[in-house]
Amino acid sequence: MSSKRRLMLVFGHPDDESHLAGSTIAKYSAEGAEVVVVIATRGEAGEIAPGVDATAENLGEIREAELRASVAVAGASLELLDYRDSGMEGTPENEDPRAFVQAPEDEVVGTLVSLMRKYRPHVVVTFDENGGYGHPDHKFISKTTTGAFLASGDTGRAHTEGLPPWTPSKLYYMGFPRSRIKRFIEEYVKIKPDNDFRDIDPEKMGIPDEQFTTRLDVAEYVSVRREAASKHRTQGSPFDMFPEAMQEEVFGNDYFVLVHPSRDGERTNNLETDLFEGLDGLA
Ligand SMILES: [Zn+2]
Repeated sequence: MSSKRRLMLVFGHPDDESHLAGSTIAKYSAEGAEVVVVIATRGEAGEIAPGVDATAENLGEIREAELRASVAVAGASLELLDYRDSGMEGTPENEDPRAFVQAPEDEVVGTLVSLMRKYRPHVVVTFDENGGYGHPDHKFISKTTTGAFLASGDTGRAHTEGLPPWTPSKLYYMGFPRSRIKRFIEEYVKIKPDNDFRDIDPEKMGIPDEQFTTRLDVAEYVSVRREAASKHRTQGSPFDMFPEAMQEEVFGNDYFVLVHPSRDGERTNNLETDLFEGLDGLA
Protein backbone atom coordinates (compact mmCIF):
# COMPACT_ATOMS: atom_id res chain seq x y z
CA MET A 1 0.00 0.00 0.00
CA SER A 2 1.52 3.27 -0.98
CA SER A 3 0.54 6.39 0.85
CA LYS A 4 0.38 9.96 -0.32
CA ARG A 5 3.63 11.89 -0.52
CA ARG A 6 3.63 14.91 1.78
CA LEU A 7 5.76 18.04 1.36
CA MET A 8 6.08 21.08 3.63
CA LEU A 9 7.77 24.32 2.57
CA VAL A 10 8.55 26.93 5.23
CA PHE A 11 9.44 30.54 4.31
CA GLY A 12 9.38 34.06 5.76
CA HIS A 13 7.06 36.24 3.69
CA PRO A 14 4.19 36.14 1.23
CA ASP A 15 5.83 35.78 -2.25
CA ASP A 16 8.88 33.79 -1.04
CA GLU A 17 6.90 30.64 -1.82
CA SER A 18 6.02 31.51 -5.41
CA HIS A 19 9.09 33.54 -6.37
CA LEU A 20 11.44 30.82 -5.16
CA ALA A 21 9.44 27.58 -5.09
CA GLY A 22 6.29 28.14 -7.14
CA SER A 23 7.21 25.55 -9.76
CA THR A 24 8.18 22.94 -7.19
CA ILE A 25 4.90 23.45 -5.34
CA ALA A 26 2.93 23.22 -8.60
CA LYS A 27 4.79 20.08 -9.70
CA TYR A 28 4.23 18.05 -6.56
CA SER A 29 0.68 19.24 -6.22
CA ALA A 30 -0.05 18.23 -9.83
CA GLU A 31 1.52 14.83 -9.16
CA GLY A 32 -0.89 14.23 -6.29
CA ALA A 33 1.30 15.04 -3.29
CA GLU A 34 -0.11 16.90 -0.30
CA VAL A 35 1.73 20.22 -0.20
CA VAL A 36 1.53 22.70 2.67
CA VAL A 37 3.20 26.11 2.67
CA VAL A 38 4.06 27.73 6.01
CA ILE A 39 4.75 31.48 6.02
CA ALA A 40 5.99 33.27 9.15
CA THR A 41 4.80 36.84 8.53
CA ARG A 42 2.44 38.97 6.42
CA GLY A 43 5.30 40.91 4.85
CA GLU A 44 4.14 44.19 6.38
CA ALA A 45 7.56 45.80 6.00
CA GLY A 46 7.83 45.12 2.29
CA GLU A 47 7.85 47.71 -0.46
CA ILE A 48 4.76 48.55 -2.47
CA ALA A 49 5.03 48.28 -6.24
CA PRO A 50 4.27 51.48 -8.16
CA GLY A 51 0.63 51.94 -9.13
CA VAL A 52 -0.75 49.44 -6.59
CA ASP A 53 -3.45 50.63 -4.21
CA ALA A 54 -1.99 49.78 -0.80
CA THR A 55 -0.56 51.66 2.16
CA ALA A 56 1.93 50.78 4.87
CA GLU A 57 -1.08 50.41 7.20
CA ASN A 58 -3.01 47.84 5.15
CA LEU A 59 -0.10 46.11 3.40
CA GLY A 60 -0.14 43.10 5.74
CA GLU A 61 -3.83 42.50 5.16
CA ILE A 62 -3.47 42.86 1.39
CA ARG A 63 -0.43 40.60 1.27
CA GLU A 64 -2.24 37.92 3.23
CA ALA A 65 -5.00 37.93 0.59
CA GLU A 66 -2.38 37.84 -2.20
CA LEU A 67 -0.66 34.92 -0.49
CA ARG A 68 -3.89 32.93 -0.17
CA ALA A 69 -4.65 33.47 -3.86
CA SER A 70 -1.10 32.57 -4.91
CA VAL A 71 -0.89 29.38 -2.87
CA ALA A 72 -4.29 28.30 -4.23
CA VAL A 73 -3.02 28.73 -7.82
CA ALA A 74 0.02 26.58 -7.06
CA GLY A 75 -2.24 23.92 -5.47
CA ALA A 76 -1.03 23.94 -1.87
CA SER A 77 -2.66 24.60 1.48
CA LEU A 78 -1.43 27.41 3.70
CA GLU A 79 -0.47 27.93 7.33
CA LEU A 80 0.22 31.59 8.11
CA LEU A 81 1.97 32.32 11.42
CA ASP A 82 1.17 35.54 13.22
CA TYR A 83 4.57 37.24 13.36
CA ARG A 84 5.45 40.66 11.99
CA ASP A 85 7.85 41.18 9.09
CA SER A 86 11.21 42.18 10.62
CA GLY A 87 12.28 44.27 7.62
CA MET A 88 15.68 44.35 5.99
CA GLU A 89 18.83 44.07 8.11
CA GLY A 90 19.53 47.19 10.13
CA THR A 91 16.10 48.83 9.73
CA PRO A 92 14.01 50.01 12.75
CA GLU A 93 11.44 47.24 12.06
CA ASN A 94 14.05 44.75 13.37
CA GLU A 95 13.41 46.13 16.89
CA ASP A 96 9.59 45.97 16.83
CA PRO A 97 8.55 43.62 19.66
CA ARG A 98 6.15 41.86 17.28
CA ALA A 99 8.93 41.29 14.70
CA PHE A 100 9.58 37.67 13.82
CA VAL A 101 13.26 37.93 14.76
CA GLN A 102 12.27 39.09 18.27
CA ALA A 103 10.29 35.90 18.93
CA PRO A 104 11.95 33.39 21.26
CA GLU A 105 13.58 30.70 19.14
CA ASP A 106 12.07 27.93 21.24
CA GLU A 107 8.56 29.31 20.77
CA VAL A 108 8.94 29.34 16.97
CA VAL A 109 10.44 25.85 16.96
CA GLY A 110 7.50 24.66 19.09
CA THR A 111 4.99 26.15 16.64
CA LEU A 112 6.73 24.50 13.70
CA VAL A 113 6.93 21.17 15.55
CA SER A 114 3.14 21.36 16.03
CA LEU A 115 2.68 21.89 12.29
CA MET A 116 5.04 19.04 11.41
CA ARG A 117 3.13 16.73 13.74
CA LYS A 118 -0.16 17.88 12.25
CA TYR A 119 0.81 17.51 8.56
CA ARG A 120 3.39 14.71 8.94
CA PRO A 121 5.53 15.79 5.96
CA HIS A 122 8.04 13.32 4.55
CA VAL A 123 10.07 16.18 3.10
CA VAL A 124 10.64 19.67 4.53
CA VAL A 125 12.06 22.59 2.50
CA THR A 126 13.24 25.97 3.76
CA PHE A 127 15.83 28.66 2.96
CA ASP A 128 19.56 28.10 3.34
CA GLU A 129 21.23 29.54 6.49
CA ASN A 130 21.86 32.87 4.74
CA GLY A 131 18.24 33.12 3.62
CA GLY A 132 19.16 33.58 -0.03
CA TYR A 133 20.48 37.11 0.45
CA GLY A 134 20.70 37.68 4.20
CA HIS A 135 17.16 38.83 5.07
CA PRO A 136 16.83 38.44 8.89
CA ASP A 137 13.44 36.67 8.63
CA HIS A 138 14.77 34.24 6.02
CA LYS A 139 17.75 33.36 8.21
CA PHE A 140 15.55 32.90 11.30
CA ILE A 141 12.98 30.71 9.55
CA SER A 142 15.80 28.55 8.17
CA LYS A 143 17.26 28.14 11.67
CA THR A 144 13.93 27.42 13.40
CA THR A 145 12.69 25.07 10.67
CA THR A 146 15.93 23.13 10.97
CA GLY A 147 15.42 23.01 14.75
CA ALA A 148 11.84 21.82 14.36
CA PHE A 149 12.84 19.19 11.79
CA LEU A 150 15.21 17.72 14.38
CA ALA A 151 12.79 18.09 17.34
CA SER A 152 9.53 16.91 15.78
CA GLY A 153 10.30 13.23 16.26
CA ASP A 154 11.50 13.70 19.83
CA THR A 155 9.15 11.81 22.17
CA GLY A 156 10.54 13.83 25.08
CA ARG A 157 9.23 17.04 23.61
CA ALA A 158 5.80 17.61 25.17
CA HIS A 159 3.05 18.72 22.88
CA THR A 160 0.06 20.75 24.01
CA GLU A 161 -2.36 19.29 21.49
CA GLY A 162 -1.26 15.75 22.21
CA LEU A 163 -0.18 15.04 18.63
CA PRO A 164 2.25 12.13 18.48
CA PRO A 165 5.87 12.73 17.41
CA TRP A 166 6.59 12.71 13.70
CA THR A 167 10.03 12.41 12.14
CA PRO A 168 10.23 13.88 8.64
CA SER A 169 12.68 11.96 6.45
CA LYS A 170 14.47 14.70 4.52
CA LEU A 171 15.33 18.37 5.00
CA TYR A 172 16.35 20.53 2.05
CA TYR A 173 17.63 24.09 1.77
CA MET A 174 16.39 25.79 -1.36
CA GLY A 175 17.97 28.76 -3.10
CA PHE A 176 18.94 30.18 -6.44
CA PRO A 177 22.26 29.00 -7.86
CA ARG A 178 24.87 31.74 -7.58
CA SER A 179 25.71 31.35 -11.28
CA ARG A 180 22.09 32.04 -12.15
CA ILE A 181 22.06 35.19 -10.01
CA LYS A 182 25.22 36.44 -11.74
CA ARG A 183 23.66 35.82 -15.12
CA PHE A 184 20.45 37.45 -13.97
CA ILE A 185 22.27 40.59 -12.90
CA GLU A 186 24.20 40.73 -16.20
CA GLU A 187 20.99 40.47 -18.20
CA TYR A 188 19.06 42.79 -15.97
CA VAL A 189 21.69 45.51 -16.23
CA LYS A 190 21.30 45.33 -20.03
CA ILE A 191 17.55 45.83 -19.75
CA LYS A 192 17.69 48.45 -17.05
CA PRO A 193 21.12 50.04 -16.59
CA ASP A 194 20.15 52.15 -13.53
CA ASN A 195 18.90 49.25 -11.47
CA ASP A 196 18.95 48.19 -7.83
CA PHE A 197 21.35 45.33 -8.47
CA ARG A 198 24.34 47.48 -9.34
CA ASP A 199 25.63 47.42 -5.79
CA ILE A 200 24.94 43.78 -5.06
CA ASP A 201 27.87 41.46 -4.55
CA PRO A 202 26.83 38.23 -6.29
CA GLU A 203 29.39 36.34 -4.21
CA LYS A 204 27.09 36.82 -1.19
CA MET A 205 23.90 35.82 -3.00
CA GLY A 206 22.23 32.48 -3.51
CA ILE A 207 23.93 29.12 -3.00
CA PRO A 208 27.26 28.16 -4.62
CA ASP A 209 26.39 25.80 -7.46
CA GLU A 210 28.68 23.01 -6.26
CA GLN A 211 26.64 22.60 -3.05
CA PHE A 212 23.48 21.45 -4.78
CA THR A 213 22.50 17.82 -4.40
CA THR A 214 19.18 17.96 -6.19
CA ARG A 215 17.84 19.48 -9.39
CA LEU A 216 14.17 19.30 -10.32
CA ASP A 217 13.07 19.70 -13.90
CA VAL A 218 10.11 22.03 -13.49
CA ALA A 219 9.93 23.49 -17.01
CA GLU A 220 6.36 22.24 -17.33
CA TYR A 221 5.30 24.32 -14.33
CA VAL A 222 6.90 27.67 -15.14
CA SER A 223 3.57 29.08 -16.33
CA VAL A 224 1.81 28.09 -13.08
CA ARG A 225 4.62 29.65 -11.09
CA ARG A 226 4.31 32.78 -13.16
CA GLU A 227 0.59 32.97 -12.48
CA ALA A 228 1.10 32.29 -8.75
CA ALA A 229 3.77 35.01 -8.58
CA SER A 230 1.47 37.46 -10.37
CA LYS A 231 -1.00 37.28 -7.47
CA HIS A 232 1.52 39.19 -5.36
CA ARG A 233 0.55 42.44 -7.04
CA THR A 234 2.01 44.68 -4.32
CA GLN A 235 5.43 43.09 -4.86
CA GLY A 236 5.82 42.75 -8.61
CA SER A 237 6.92 39.49 -10.16
CA PRO A 238 10.44 38.31 -10.94
CA PHE A 239 9.07 37.27 -14.31
CA ASP A 240 8.55 40.92 -15.21
CA MET A 241 12.31 41.37 -15.24
CA PHE A 242 13.06 38.87 -17.98
CA PRO A 243 12.44 38.69 -21.68
CA GLU A 244 9.93 35.89 -22.34
CA ALA A 245 12.54 33.83 -24.21
CA MET A 246 14.81 33.63 -21.16
CA GLN A 247 12.20 32.52 -18.69
CA GLU A 248 12.30 28.81 -19.33
CA GLU A 249 16.08 28.83 -19.11
CA VAL A 250 16.07 30.82 -15.89
CA PHE A 251 13.12 29.13 -14.21
CA GLY A 252 13.14 25.67 -15.83
CA ASN A 253 14.99 23.95 -12.98
CA ASP A 254 14.76 24.32 -9.20
CA TYR A 255 17.78 23.54 -7.02
CA PHE A 256 18.12 22.14 -3.50
CA VAL A 257 20.75 21.11 -0.98
CA LEU A 258 19.94 17.95 0.98
CA VAL A 259 20.81 18.79 4.59
CA HIS A 260 19.39 15.74 6.40
CA PRO A 261 20.32 13.00 5.92
CA SER A 262 23.66 14.58 5.08
CA ARG A 263 25.39 13.62 1.84
CA ASP A 264 28.75 15.00 2.97
CA GLY A 265 31.62 12.95 1.66
CA GLU A 266 29.60 11.29 -1.06
CA ARG A 267 29.27 14.16 -3.49
CA THR A 268 28.85 12.89 -7.00
CA ASN A 269 27.84 14.38 -10.27
CA ASN A 270 24.59 12.48 -10.01
CA LEU A 271 22.15 15.01 -8.69
CA GLU A 272 18.87 13.74 -7.29
CA THR A 273 15.96 14.53 -9.58
CA ASP A 274 13.14 14.11 -7.05
CA LEU A 275 12.75 15.37 -3.47
CA PHE A 276 11.23 12.01 -2.50
CA GLU A 277 14.09 10.01 -4.01
CA GLY A 278 15.00 7.03 -1.81
CA LEU A 279 11.79 7.20 0.23
CA ASP A 280 9.97 3.98 -0.48
CA GLY A 281 6.91 2.67 1.31
CA LEU A 282 5.90 6.01 2.80
CA ALA A 283 3.87 5.97 6.00
ZN1 LIG B 1 11.06 36.99 1.92
